[in-house]
Amino acid sequence: MSGPPTITLRPGRERSLLRRHPWVFSGAVQRTQGSTEPGTTVAVRGSDGRFLAWAAASPRSQIVARVWSFDEADVIDETFVARRITASAERRAGLWPRTDSARIVFSESDGVPGVIADRYGEWVVVELTTAGSERWRDEIGQALAALPGVEGVYERSDIDVRKREGLPERTGSLAGAEPPDEIVIHEAGMRFAVDVRRGHKTGFYLDQRESRRVCGELADGRLVLNTFCYTGGFTIAALGNGASEVISVDSSGPALAIARRNVALNGFDVTGAGHDADDRFVEADVFGELRRRKDRGEKFGMVILDPPKLAHRADQVDKSTRAYKDINLQAFQLLEPGGVLLTFSCSGLVTEDLFQKVVAGAALDARREARIVGHLHQASDHPVHLAVPETAYLKGLVVEVS
Ligand code: SAH
Repeated sequence: MSGPPTITLRPGRERSLLRRHPWVFSGAVQRTQGSTEPGTTVAVRGSDGRFLAWAAASPRSQIVARVWSFDEADVIDETFVARRITASAERRAGLWPRTDSARIVFSESDGVPGVIADRYGEWVVVELTTAGSERWRDEIGQALAALPGVEGVYERSDIDVRKREGLPERTGSLAGAEPPDEIVIHEAGMRFAVDVRRGHKTGFYLDQRESRRVCGELADGRLVLNTFCYTGGFTIAALGNGASEVISVDSSGPALAIARRNVALNGFDVTGAGHDADDRFVEADVFGELRRRKDRGEKFGMVILDPPKLAHRADQVDKSTRAYKDINLQAFQLLEPGGVLLTFSCSGLVTEDLFQKVVAGAALDARREARIVGHLHQASDHPVHLAVPETAYLKGLVVEVS
């Protein structure tokens, strides 16, 4: 048989595709015809032969194909890819009055599996995570560079998940001009320095934009302990809204250096009355630092807990919940009466329900009476695809203690 390369599924295994979930797992495949070189577009068919989707082959991954389109009439070519990228960027138009920086392409949620693109002012930083996105790398770079106002596209394809696809790490300029060492972005009156070459992910946690706003609304007059602060997003939000002082803790020296820089960029005193900078930017392991401060009897009006992803695989969920419980318990003990806890989990495998139970258990063990006064999520430029629950990952609670 000629025609496009084809993956035919085992009987009964077409269900998730019919529900528009875009992944084909290796166990679902009955047979493969034609070339399934990494990134090749393949037709996915049910065991009865009916067309299900066009997908990009990733033969080295557990997910052997990722869907581009469920419409047989679509042609997956340069124009198709460019159209998807442009439409995705245009969906963010409503954000620009408040910020010059946002995630403009969020992978499966935007119909472009394996493509993450963050806009920082005139610059775009792109992360390609799959064989399919790698196949269209140049076209993706061109489409992003062609967006209005974009000076250049920088690639940060240096993340672990590429290994599962058999792809090498790659960073560097992809299209247009080279970005400067420091990009200063603007969000709701705040300024943040972003290091797109060495920063985490693409350089900044855009996904916490709404939570920074909520943090600001609650910060007035409070002494704040911002743990896992990275480059100080919450630090600036709190200082800009009347926090009496913010102590920022992270294990990364380079991240803290940028946090300090951000405090200065926003016109706040880096040293603070009666303190030197090292009192307010603490390079330490948060788990130990929370205990030390509790043992010293310190109290705060606000504690922020935004740890990195603690559960990467299903078999790590139990262990991660013990770690989440530990830091939340310590935080409850550090809060003064009327204090608020902003607590997050960015592990997609830890559901909102489970996370709330963990935080409830921590309050109980800390013997603090507390109420949830707000639920937080990844910002709207990190949309959750209704058919792809895996795209919901960031959850947070605002908890007020009595
Ligand atoms: N709250 C930040 C994002 C946090 S990312 C923001 O809004 O920008 C997680 C951070 O935790 C990283 O900066 C990482 O350096 C730090 N980190 C990871 N493990 C840590 C630990 N055990 N102690 C202190 N910091 C840690």
